Amino acid sequence: SRQFTRPLNDLANQFNTLLSAIAGAERVFEILDEEEVREHSSTIPLGDVEGEVEFKNVVFTYDDDKPTINNVSFRALPGETVALVGPTGAGKTTIINLLARFYEPDYGKIYLDGKEISRITRAELRSKMGFVLQDSYLFQGTIMENIRYGDLSASDEEVMEAAKMANAHSFISKLPNQYNTVLKQGGSGISQGQKQLISIARAMLSDPTVLILDEATSNIDTITEMKIQDALYKLMKNRTSIVIAHRLNTIQNADQILVLDNGQLIEQGTHQSLLQQKGFYYGLFHSQIKQEIG
Ligand code: ADP
Repeated sequence: SRQFTRPLNDLANQFNTLLSAIAGAERVFEILDEEEVREHSSTIPLGDVEGEVEFKNVVFTYDDDKPTINNVSFRALPGETVALVGPTGAGKTTIINLLARFYEPDYGKIYLDGKEISRITRAELRSKMGFVLQDSYLFQGTIMENIRYGDLSASDEEVMEAAKMANAHSFISKLPNQYNTVLKQGGSGISQGQKQLISIARAMLSDPTVLILDEATSNIDTITEMKIQDALYKLMKNRTSIVIAHRLNTIQNADQILVLDNGQLIEQGTHQSLLQQKGFYYGLFHSQIKQEIG
């Protein structure tokens, strides 16, 4: 709306920016869509979403091998934080891949607000989701474009507002070209932690109902780490968050912790209740999570 009040010149610039952002955005999901996931022959509209996520007896196998996800069921109520923990290879990423429909379950169902996600188009499903992943999918383009990908209709001011909320504005402002700094594919040129902050700003801007997080662990200095923690806290508030958790804070404050091992949900509960069980989580907590390896 406000763009019509701008000089024509400005509008043309805006349009170019938008085009390159769209080109980048398409590449992003092309990269992520590893497998052809067909749309259902009769899709159902999603409409407004509260954010209840449910897995019901989900089984999934990448190859013909034994199931990667074996009969997993859980329910996250709107606004809850669900932390996925377990050893490498347990199936945490696969759960997220299934929720975002990068793959389809072989058996069982996944629901968003009681609607089967296999019947919701990926575009509509993902319009309700925000992603902050370890390898934040930053594309070749400016920081402005990379954040705006969260909402292509956002103004520069709105992008900057999101960056401020995400504690990204201060480092961006110190770059020679600030928001016009061009990131290479994958975001090379800035630190791992700064990539996370940009990714969080993008998610802030998209204002998702369901947040999918894969917390980064490596090569992040203490100050940036604190900025990330604070930004994530703001981002996760009042949204359903499904988190591959590596940070103690996230795990201890989660409404539910799902402990996965070998594709199976072996324990489920809060941090305190799981510690009291003195089972797998207890062992994991004392051996790994304590060192924040997760
Ligand atoms: P986690 O996130 O807990 O480390 P993943 O979900 O990434 O675990 O992996 C679960 C299992 O599935 C592992 O054995 C892994 O090797 C396997 N796997 C992951 N992605 C693929 C894939 N694209 N193709 C085949 N096997 C995969």
